[in-house]
Amino acid sequence: MITENIHLLPMSSPADYAIATLGSHTALQILKGAKDEGFKTICVCTKGTKEPYESFRVADQILEVEKFSDFFSVEEELKKQNAVLIPHGSFVSYIGAKEVQKVSMMHFGTRSILAWESDRIKQREWLALAGLRQPEVLEKPEDIDRPVIVKFHGAMGGSGYFIANTPKEFYDHVRDYPMEERKYVLQEYIVGVPMYIHYFYSPLTDELEIMSFDKRYESNADSIGRIAARDQMDAHIKTSYTITGNMPLVIRESLLPQLFQMGRRVVETSRKLEGVGKRGIFGPFCLETIIDPQLNFFTFEISARIVAGTNPFVNGSPYTWLRYNEPMSTGRRIAREVKHAIEDDRLEEILG
Ligand code: ATP
Repeated sequence: MITENIHLLPMSSPADYAIATLGSHTALQILKGAKDEGFKTICVCTKGTKEPYESFRVADQILEVEKFSDFFSVEEELKKQNAVLIPHGSFVSYIGAKEVQKVSMMHFGTRSILAWESDRIKQREWLALAGLRQPEVLEKPEDIDRPVIVKFHGAMGGSGYFIANTPKEFYDHVRDYPMEERKYVLQEYIVGVPMYIHYFYSPLTDELEIMSFDKRYESNADSIGRIAARDQMDAHIKTSYTITGNMPLVIRESLLPQLFQMGRRVVETSRKLEGVGKRGIFGPFCLETIIDPQLNFFTFEISARIVAGTNPFVNGSPYTWLRYNEPMSTGRRIAREVKHAIEDDRLEEILG
């Protein structure tokens, strides 16, 4: 029998696509990870901000816009290059939740989850459905009977948050601020340590991974302890939580099983949320928690995308090292998911 050499057409590969993101937040690791997985990389920068993306050699191409909300002016160009857009924490803040729905290029992740993530009340509903313990929310300042953290909507990075122990303390503090138009939430202040848990869920393999952990470095909350309590009082320092950076952590190992269960429940319940669709949340997400001395996890927020706390792990975390035995940032993990989807002809399943 004569056998012929059959020349197959080259399979669809990362080289046929590009990965694009906005130049901010976690773009360095997203682009670096995409390059490592064989993609061309495109960074959309605002004028005057491209230097890090050039200097760190992560962007094959830089597209400049005046401001991030002008993103749509480069969308056609991105489409021409077969680019998959990777959203990150700053993406929604800069583009706006409504505008994000208008993105027509390939977009990694479930956009419909935004309605749940960006609304504090809906977020609580989702976390409650997943059976996660949350700090209590008090209805009005008169209800303050324990320490509460006062959080302003859209504060971005905890700027201006403060602690009040009584209704009087609340009103004394806000006297200095124009409150009329400011929406806020009064949340029970949990005395414990913050722990941000970075997950990745693959819809292709149904695997939930713990990528890494971080805590935040916040000004001035993380510096107040450097001066004596008396000096703090004398200087009338008011605590604020303006995020400036992130620090890597590893967690007590016996707590890990519980964290896998929490993450899994978040994924499963997301499929039941109205308007989200049966795929639910996938890709990277983060549970923002405080652990009290009894080792209870209080989840005070969920981020349904890559968070900046993954930035210390460009070269991987202790956990991704265990899982992959090669450098694996969350940015690279996203690119790998896109790569596998392309290779298996399942790209549709990771776009949303
Ligand atoms: P967002 O991610 O919506 O921008 P944010 O970054 O502005 O939120 P948070 O992350 O909600 O702000 O909180 C800022 C800081 O306050 C963090 O250090 C967090 O650990 C701390 N914090 C938040 N909620 C609580 C709470 N209920 N008890 C104790 N500490 C809290």
